[in-house]
Amino acid sequence: MAERTARKTAPAAPVAEALARLDHLYADAACSLDFQSPLELLVATILSAQCTDTRVNQVTPEVFRRFPGAAALAASPPGALENVIRSTGFFNAKAKSLRGMARVLMTKHGGEVPRTMEDLHALPGVGRKTANVVLGNVWGTPDGVVVDTHVGRLARRLGWTRQTDAVKAERDLNRIVPRDRWTWISHALIQHGRRICTARRPQCERCTLADLCPKVGVAAAEKQKKKKREISLKVKRASRTRK
Ligand code: SF4
Repeated sequence: MAERTARKTAPAAPVAEALARLDHLYADAACSLDFQSPLELLVATILSAQCTDTRVNQVTPEVFRRFPGAAALAASPPGALENVIRSTGFFNAKAKSLRGMARVLMTKHGGEVPRTMEDLHALPGVGRKTANVVLGNVWGTPDGVVVDTHVGRLARRLGWTRQTDAVKAERDLNRIVPRDRWTWISHALIQHGRRICTARRPQCERCTLADLCPKVGVAAAEKQKKKKREISLKVKRASRTRK
């Protein structure tokens, strides 16, 4: 009981120290999507939903070649865009978002990507996360931290938020991370999440944050995995005995 109470009240990782250590490892962390214009980054970010950046980078050169600019994207014939982006998954929904977004760019913004959260967020298929990717990485004026699956997971494990909703988690991070680090911290946590603090097997013993981090939920996840392994072993043994 005492152990359970201690775990519940373990303090969040001190932000300044954690940022300094991450900076040591990931000072140059940057956007891993390939782009050469605000529109290209907007398109790539919409395509990156439920898809790896590597896959998106394989697909976007052909998207940009066949549909260069908002006008071409808005006028893309049914099926043509879908075929090119098929391998990114959810391609019908993504094609609908891309066409809708490009049409609004043409009708309301002269074919250009707007520069405010309000205008970006009003585009079809663009949430706060996508808008912040563009604002932060193109113009250096993010309205908040980009919270993707890695950032949300690490922020919870570090005790910086308890929220599973990305917008609420973003609000918590915006409060504790200095504004001039909003874009970078997202890239740094994504890299750390890919290399060390993975979803299935966080390598706390190798982690630079190990002595600071309360590891929220990590022990419970390990316990659950152990239980599953034991159950599957029991099932295997039972089926062998029956044979
Ligand atoms: S790997 Fe472990 S110590 Fe490092 S951030 Fe993740 S949960 Fe914390």
